[in-house]
Amino acid sequence: MKLIDNHGRTVNYLRLAVTDRCNLRCFYCMPANGIRYMARKDLLSFEEMERLVRVLVQSGVNKLRITGGEPLLRNGILDFLSDVSRLPDLKEINLTTNGTLTADKIETLERIGIRSINLSLDSLDPERFHAITRRDVFHTVKHALDELLASSLEVKINMVVMAGRNTDDIYPMLELARHQKVNVRFIEEMPFNGTLGQGNLGFWPMTRILDHIRQQYPIEKLPDPVAATASHYRVPGFAGSFGVIAAFTRNFCGSCNRIRVTPQGGLRTCLYGDPVLQLRDLMREGISDDGLQQKVLYTLNQRARNGFEAEAQRAAARPVSESMATIGG
Ligand code: SAM
Ligand code: SF4
Repeated sequence: MKLIDNHGRTVNYLRLAVTDRCNLRCFYCMPANGIRYMARKDLLSFEEMERLVRVLVQSGVNKLRITGGEPLLRNGILDFLSDVSRLPDLKEINLTTNGTLTADKIETLERIGIRSINLSLDSLDPERFHAITRRDVFHTVKHALDELLASSLEVKINMVVMAGRNTDDIYPMLELARHQKVNVRFIEEMPFNGTLGQGNLGFWPMTRILDHIRQQYPIEKLPDPVAATASHYRVPGFAGSFGVIAAFTRNFCGSCNRIRVTPQGGLRTCLYGDPVLQLRDLMREGISDDGLQQKVLYTLNQRARNGFEAEAQRAAARPVSESMATIGG
């Protein structure tokens, strides 16, 4: 059985958030005093996550991203990764991490066969980094980046672009790609920051980010992989490349191939929509694997066409404000 939605889009990509807990407090993701974490019993267990991944892989999912919260905070995560890496039809496992707990796990991640690591790094300036993440761990994260670049893992850097906070980092961040095979991704800020009213100081859409880069660098468009959210570019002569992700202006929904599972097992068929199916409860009530597949397929057949439609359909027009750590970025 294939997972095809009501708009003819095939879903082959699962983003699984394995925890809502985090050791940073990034301004754009969480309030300074954090978010109310879910009780442990409400989180999916590793057995439940393994079952879900297996059932979804049987339905055509061949790409998995592990995210959170900070996924490397969850005890047992490496064993879980090792277990799911044995699923023969799962072609790719990737991980998004804030880099605070990464450096000493690189060898294990390589051995497990993780394909790529997305490292979130919003500034190369320790003070700006501290102001954004509200934690003094720049050197730990920079060390993780250096170790990752020296490893066999593919490395992408995620930088959320925020007016008045880190736009001065755009050029230095791009410079990382001059001599190293890294893909730097500039991401539009979204309002998923765990609080209403913690507005940013101004919004930099993709067009502005690109205009800013063009002022200093000649850039060439690269072909985008199928269903990519990033628009890919390169600076001629650079070893690496860069991308811009229109996460808020949403130019990529037409080819969306992904679903998300939240730490407590909610299925989200769109980042901007509400959870549409409670997978944890179905599993705890004893649903069969076939039943689970049917429910997911049925839900995909009610899917919003794009992020704007999904946002408009949120319960009681509830504005987008939950933390990305509770959704899985
Ligand atoms: N803790 C890990 C990390 O930071 O890489 C994984 C989870 S985090 C929620 C995943 C990604 O979502 C990060 O790259 C982060 O920068 C991004 N993100 C979080 N909140 C965002 C927001 N409001 N707008 C855009 N991106 C956001
Ligand atoms: Fe934590 Fe990642 Fe959110 Fe930053 S973006 S607070 S590191 S979950």
